[in-house]
Amino acid sequence: MEEGLIKRLMASIKCGVCGQLYEIDNIGVLGHHQDLWFLRASCSACHTQCLVAAVIGEEREPEVITDLTEVELDRFRDAGMLSADEVLDMHNFLKDFDGDLSRLLSQK
Ligand SMILES: [Zn+2]
Repeated sequence: MEEGLIKRLMASIKCGVCGQLYEIDNIGVLGHHQDLWFLRASCSACHTQCLVAAVIGEEREPEVITDLTEVELDRFRDAGMLSADEVLDMHNFLKDFDGDLSRLLSQK
């Protein structure tokens, strides 16, 4: 179902470091908040890990945001790629994850 769709979407993304495509086996879903999904991907070639946010709604094109940091969230908002509401949702979601994110990241 949706997790499979998201992983397939992720598998079309290249590692920001070496350009290798991520493999579905190396993609983990951390959680989601409405249409906003958070994933962790690790590169099979250089083993770099990145956090990924994807906005996936039923009636819209999936949008993937890699290497998520708060600074970059602001940049995306400035670039008009996300609505202010979506950025706010993301911030709130990350805030809810305070203290838990490292635990989630260390999960298999
Ligand atoms: Zn890589």
